[in-house]
Amino acid sequence: MLVEKNVPLQPFNSFRIVARADTLIRVKNEADVQAVLADPALAAAPKFVLGGGSNIVLTGDVKPVVLKVEIEGRRLLQDSPRAWIVEAGAGENWHELVAWTLAQGWPGLENMALIPGTVGAAPVQNIGAYGVELQDRFESLDAIDLQTGRSFTLDAAQCGFGYRDSVFKHAPAPADAASGRPGGLGLAGRALITRVRLRLPKPWKPVLGYQDLERRMADTGVVEPTPQQIFDWICEVRRAKLPDPAVIGNAGSFFKNPTVSPEQCADIIAREPRIVHYQLDDGTVKLAAGWLIDACGWKGKSIGQAAVYEKQALVLVNRGGGEQGATGGEVMTLAKAIQTSVYERFGILLEPEPVVV
Ligand SMILES: Cc1cc2nc3c(=O)[nH]c(=O)nc-3n(C[C@H](O)[C@H](O)[C@H](O)COP(=O)(O)OP(=O)(O)OC[C@H]3O[C@@H](n4cnc5c(N)ncnc54)[C@H](O)[C@@H]3O)c2cc1C
Repeated sequence: MLVEKNVPLQPFNSFRIVARADTLIRVKNEADVQAVLADPALAAAPKFVLGGGSNIVLTGDVKPVVLKVEIEGRRLLQDSPRAWIVEAGAGENWHELVAWTLAQGWPGLENMALIPGTVGAAPVQNIGAYGVELQDRFESLDAIDLQTGRSFTLDAAQCGFGYRDSVFKHAPAPADAASGRPGGLGLAGRALITRVRLRLPKPWKPVLGYQDLERRMADTGVVEPTPQQIFDWICEVRRAKLPDPAVIGNAGSFFKNPTVSPEQCADIIAREPRIVHYQLDDGTVKLAAGWLIDACGWKGKSIGQAAVYEKQALVLVNRGGGEQGATGGEVMTLAKAIQTSVYERFGILLEPEPVVV
């Protein structure tokens, strides 16, 4: 186990925010985690689990011990008449896993192509894009409890997946001695995911109900696209719409799309007939957060070097580079100003998607 001190984190976060980790340890396998927990000083220290850093905002130097997950490996576990079960190490790059499964002839992940970050972080916010979420392709995961060192396996139900949400985003709810209510299962900051298994169902069925994909079908005349065609289309669409973090720092969508009751939605539509909204199966209505932000006039606006992306108001970007770039404080000040103006105009509190460290 190599313990690195005073490590620059700018290369390890997609916002390219300048910050340092007091202590950083690269986790290459399960034994590395056990070695950390066997060291009395490291075991007692608070910890932060880092994947690819594409969904975090660093607001200063990181004092907790950073465990940078670099567990590799991917393999086919099972090929049954109903599904391919694929397992990958938490440190594998998500997009490369998607491309690799396709190349092997195991489709199913193509709609989630080009989502940055690692396999281990994918369950944390139940990543999703173009009509498919991780939970739709999830089999199980292995993790290590950073307090006890115990290894455990969770299935989809135990992960508590929701829209950009899971048990890994919630602090444990304390037990209530008065009522006898047991503590809730929250694993934020407590579990280090080591391996993820995915279920790719057979027969493969395309998921196409998105305007961008329908437009590609109309433009190309392709009626029954292959998994590879969908993968290629999605990569093209995403490259055109989203800023490449290698060029301009960002963390993708900065806010979740809020859901409101039909009554609330009707009230907003009465005032804002053009509002972009989608009816959900459970009767609630999802509103496009980017539209709300744009309607408040934020597109292209900035605070310091933190700015709202000109082409997509849902994305906050770092306009500068290095020491001249945005600080996490500037990003969060901008985010709070956006929240306030959207709340004042629509009565909706936008919830940030990235984890603030
Ligand atoms: C340009 C761009 C586009 C994006 N598009 C999408 C999109 O379409 N859909 C979408 O859902 N997301 C999207 N994102 C967000 C991001 O890609 C995902 O949230 C991704 O899963 C983050 O992975 P990461 O490895 O970078 O996680 P990090 O940013 O390193 O960590 C995120 C959180 O997960 C925790 N974590 C990381 N690894 C582990 C582990 N092994 N065990 C336990 N906890 C862990 C961290 O502690 C932190 O709380 C986008 C981001 C960018 C920059």
